[in-house]
Amino acid sequence: MNNTETVFIDGSTGEGGGQILRTSLALSCITGRSLHIENIRAARRNPGLAKQHLSCVQAACQICNGKCQGAARGSQVLDFQPGSIQSGEFYFDIGSAGSASLVIQTVLPALFLADKPSTITVTGGTHNPLAPPFDFLSGTFLPAIATAGFQANCKLIKHGFYPAGGGKITCDIQPWQKQSHQAINICQPSPAPIRREPGSMGAGFQIHALVYTAKLPAHIAQRQRKLLLQSGLNIQNIQHIEATDSEGPGNCVMIRLCGTDRTTVFTAFGMRGKPSQEVVSEVVNLAKDFLASGAAVDRFLADQILIYMAISKAGSYTTNELSTHLLTNMEIIKKFLPVNFNVHRQEQNYSISCQPAMEHSNREM
Ligand code: ATP
Repeated sequence: MNNTETVFIDGSTGEGGGQILRTSLALSCITGRSLHIENIRAARRNPGLAKQHLSCVQAACQICNGKCQGAARGSQVLDFQPGSIQSGEFYFDIGSAGSASLVIQTVLPALFLADKPSTITVTGGTHNPLAPPFDFLSGTFLPAIATAGFQANCKLIKHGFYPAGGGKITCDIQPWQKQSHQAINICQPSPAPIRREPGSMGAGFQIHALVYTAKLPAHIAQRQRKLLLQSGLNIQNIQHIEATDSEGPGNCVMIRLCGTDRTTVFTAFGMRGKPSQEVVSEVVNLAKDFLASGAAVDRFLADQILIYMAISKAGSYTTNELSTHLLTNMEIIKKFLPVNFNVHRQEQNYSISCQPAMEHSNREM
């Protein structure tokens, strides 16, 4: 029996932000179930659909031959009826600095379930606070889901920093290699064990830092470089990338923890009035907390890979933080797919796993 019932989602649940909409759209597309969502982004200062979210709706509509009502700026209610998934070449222009990565992440599950490869190009923000920067998308997120047969590659064509935007990312997506896939299993830090002496934290990893600047005075990158060298992390090299193609100013500092089989990218953004000291401390503390925890997956990847575990109806990982994004995403996913998630406390970390729940069938996956 096909489950064709409309899924009702309250967008004010838990985190109450845009991720509820993106996860709902992605899962509506792959299950073929219609979606009715209310109170979109109710917990945000500017509730309703902003440009990025509207682009996600339009992208889902186009890729799934869907129909929707309520797709307008500021709308807090949306009805979305997916049709059949199509592969192909797609282009989406967010028209603001809204995150291109988040638009890509909305339609990726559907394109993985298409019968042929696809390419999508998105213009908008490529390096935005509170969203996955391009480097995280390509260096952390895509390699993590590739372990379960979800193969995609993305390229940065042009930098787009918040608030000017104007960047461009393309992404090539292959149909899911369902037969050859293994479940996502990211439970051990890579590599272990981590040395924890205060003077050489992260000595077991290759640690690289990146300082991005665009249209900003040279002393900012120099200062951030100096602060990184004093951070107590065992950083092997620091690269400065001057994004000369950027339409507006921008600054972010990244730390890449490179293990033998995976890379975790941490980012902090500079902005007017925020001292470099604060920017560097923010990213260094993210990396240090993660290293000290011995967890395998950082808090951002933790909420982003749940959909792929749910599609595979299997998988597990350990993470050092149980974010509201993570918990909310689990609740939304369970409304569409017959899965359960288990959360176990393991000393200071959490072990998350996914299992099939009582079968109810949707679109064949
Ligand atoms: P709003 O909060 O305005 O509704 P939104 O639609 O951009 O905005 P959220 O619901 O907050 O989004 O979701 C943000 C997503 O971005 C989450 O999946 C989170 O893991 C991811 N994210 C945020 N910051 C980072 C970061 N520094 N690196 C990687 N991913 C990040």
